[in-house]
Amino acid sequence: MANLSKGISHFRGSVFPEHSALYRKLAREGQQPQALMISCADSRVMPETITQSGPGELFVCRNAGNIVPPFQTANGGVSSAIEYAVVALGISDVIVCGHSDCGAMKGLCHPELLGPMPNVAAWLKHSHAAYSIVCEAYPTNLGEKDRIRAVAMENVVVQLDHLRTHPSVAAKLATNEVSLHGWFFDIETGSVLVYDGAASRFTEIEDGKPLPVAVSGRGVTQVIEAFNTIAAE
Ligand code: ZN
Repeated sequence: MANLSKGISHFRGSVFPEHSALYRKLAREGQQPQALMISCADSRVMPETITQSGPGELFVCRNAGNIVPPFQTANGGVSSAIEYAVVALGISDVIVCGHSDCGAMKGLCHPELLGPMPNVAAWLKHSHAAYSIVCEAYPTNLGEKDRIRAVAMENVVVQLDHLRTHPSVAAKLATNEVSLHGWFFDIETGSVLVYDGAASRFTEIEDGKPLPVAVSGRGVTQVIEAFNTIAAE
């Protein structure tokens, strides 16, 4: 804890004074973050560092395995963070960010390790579809590292599907007010792969080009047109 204590002193004495005007403005006017990022709690994955975001720019929800439980009536921390970000803060972009060498994904692939951690085992059930996809659709001769990586990537896509079950997200997708993004951070290289929903694959970010989107909104006009077509039949 000594390092953390030293860090607090350094922040208060040297870092904060340089940004005190920004903090005062944020305290006065509140936050208007540009995106909600759901990432793993892994200490090597730092959303603000990866995106070079400052105070007030990123609304972050972290948990083991960057998991979004499907919507249910029972209350949950992730569901509440999503609802608050989308409804109260009017956030227009939601990012699910997985990463390489994820301990949660290792646990998913090796349930025998989860005996002493019944809560983790139960939590990881929300990712089971990713494990099943890799078992069924990927080559059987994948090495351990590649298998964990594949599960972590599929897990991002599975959690994006879960996001769409949340009423707040579903409603804003229908009116084109929110877009969903799937990212994968490679700890060893520092690169971020982005899920392209139209191509159903992760791609490298190309400088100067717009980021591929996993799920974009339909637009309220399309929703109404679709309804009118059905109503007219
Ligand atoms: Zn992780």
